[in-house]
Amino acid sequence: MNNDYATRIQNYSNGSYQDPASNQWIDNYEPSSGKIYGDIPNSNANDIEEAVAFAKAAFSSWSQTTIEQRSRILLKIADGIEARLQQLAEAESRDNGKPIGLAKSVDIPRAASNFRFFGNAITQFASESHESIGLNAINFTLRKPIGVVGCISPWNLPLYLFTWKIAPAIAAGNCVIAKPSEVTPMTAYLLGEICTEAGLPPGVLNIIHGLGTTTGQAILEHPEIKAISFTGGTKTGEHLARTCAPMFKKLSLELGGKNPNLIFADCDYEHMLETTLRSSFANQGQICLCGSRIFVERSIYKKFKSDFVSRVKQLVVDHPSSTKANLGALVSKQHLEKVQSYIALTKTKGQGTILCGGNRIIIKGYEEGYYLEPTVIEVPSNTCTLNQEEIFGPVVTLMPFDTEEEVLSYANDVTYGLSSTLWTKDIDRTMRISNQLQAGIVWVNTWMMRDLRTPFGGVKASGVGREGGFEALRFFTESKNVCIKYS
Ligand code: NAD
Repeated sequence: MNNDYATRIQNYSNGSYQDPASNQWIDNYEPSSGKIYGDIPNSNANDIEEAVAFAKAAFSSWSQTTIEQRSRILLKIADGIEARLQQLAEAESRDNGKPIGLAKSVDIPRAASNFRFFGNAITQFASESHESIGLNAINFTLRKPIGVVGCISPWNLPLYLFTWKIAPAIAAGNCVIAKPSEVTPMTAYLLGEICTEAGLPPGVLNIIHGLGTTTGQAILEHPEIKAISFTGGTKTGEHLARTCAPMFKKLSLELGGKNPNLIFADCDYEHMLETTLRSSFANQGQICLCGSRIFVERSIYKKFKSDFVSRVKQLVVDHPSSTKANLGALVSKQHLEKVQSYIALTKTKGQGTILCGGNRIIIKGYEEGYYLEPTVIEVPSNTCTLNQEEIFGPVVTLMPFDTEEEVLSYANDVTYGLSSTLWTKDIDRTMRISNQLQAGIVWVNTWMMRDLRTPFGGVKASGVGREGGFEALRFFTESKNVCIKYS
């Protein structure tokens, strides 16, 4: 491993760090300054081939380790992450542009929790038994690890989502080929050393870096990688499904969102306002669960609009290392330009009125950094592009509504169905609306409150399958029914 983690990143394969076979490298940018600060491998099919061979070799013994041994190693990895909280948080903040405080309080602690949770969950994972009464037979289900599996993750919550996949995969006895986003590879790189120190045998986890079109594609196409857990954009998810379906790979797809935030007049107003600021702009709005479409009951619409806009104007956009920063930099120049192109629709297509924000921010000393004002746009209808397409940045839209039926139709009239947030004190309404929202997750009077045992995932274009708790352990195992007839 390189001592200076701010320069060259290497693959972690068979328990040690190595250069890619092709010796091809990609620039790694620092979003806060817009400058290149290192490089990462652009691994190809040869690197994946080699990693799969290591993983296959490790599988025969890893799949036979006792649950206690596996659990102990996962818990040690969790401890290792916690012991390096500061280093990992700094690395995440620098690589992604997110405020250091957020990386330190959310991203890195959650990465540790992922390993701790699945290290414990595997000790409680049981399979079913079905007695065939009257037939003198008993069926029991064996749950076997799949073998070599792939984990591909995005840039918005880098170590958080990377470990959310790896932890259940190895807990269940699989060996993993994992690819973090090429945009945010740093903490995945550092994880290798932590795993080695925790005693994870070589080959159980292989972290291979590179572009989606080279490294990622080689993972999809490798015939020995039997299951892939993917989090990323819906378009990429479609491509994955198209490539992997003919090979009959097991797929878990966690994709994009365009989540509605339904605010009724009877809610706890202050709590709602405070939480809606977070659900709109946390991580620069780059969380798949952010409530990007805000619908407010007409009787409080004017008040909400004025209060919300004045609170948004107070949010501080600053260098991610600043403890005052509410928002840091967006992840890349390309992404900043994409978000700006949506804001521009207000001018070019008359798609709404900017109530605040909308402009790039120049921070002294970091003039090329990717900073953008948190932006609130009042839209005339739910059918406009701003309300239909995922922007994935610090941009939210506002619209009033009059009735439950009306707001439900807005909420559901979108191709996505990941999460939704509902603000009301009325329990009957809570039940009516929760039942009808087309989403994998409904938060009522809260946002992003996570219990790792619960099923996590989306419907419609937001994905296929569920992560979390035993759902993830089921995904990473193949079930086999054994039927025994007795006399
Ligand atoms: P992306 O789809 O561009 O990339 C995700 C990962 O896929 C990266 O590692 C990338 O290198 C890889 N990839 C790209 N092309 C590939 C290919 N041909 N074969 C294999 N791998 C390939 O997504 P992104 O821009 O990194 O992330 C943002 C998206 O992720 C947003 O749409 C967001 O909503 C979504 N997301 C969803 C969830 C969820 O839980 N549903 C969570 C976080 C982010």
